[in-house]
Amino acid sequence: MVEQLLEIKKCLLADKLLVGEMRTAVESLGKNPKRPLGKVNSWWWWLEPVHGCNLACVFCGMRLFKRNDWRFVSMETWRVTMNIIAELSPYGKIGIVGAGESTLHPDFYELARVVAAAWCSAVCCDL
Ligand code: SF4
Repeated sequence: MVEQLLEIKKCLLADKLLVGEMRTAVESLGKNPKRPLGKVNSWWWWLEPVHGCNLACVFCGMRLFKRNDWRFVSMETWRVTMNIIAELSPYGKIGIVGAGESTLHPDFYELARVVAAAWCSAVCCDL
């Protein structure tokens, strides 16, 4: 994954229009093994394994989506995503949250186990 990151870095730096802070951020990619994403490293990844909710809290954007339009991330997609994040952002937090109620995923505990196995400095979810 880091090799692909370095390839992306090379392509981006070839663009003469890339200047200033953005160029500095791109130049920081892949330099520090503890922080491969350099200056654009996320300290908190929010992942949304569920689209849908059985409630309709007034403050939540879920109210804007169609009711009963349930979608769940597949375990394969989840595992691949965790492995990518683990390699590119080994020190950070992960939130199993977002536009939907994560705990309604039929394999919610397996999702959490995958996160803990692949990488985990902190995990939270919207219980
Ligand atoms: S996702 Fe959470 S905040 Fe949004 S409607 Fe469901 S329970 Fe409420």
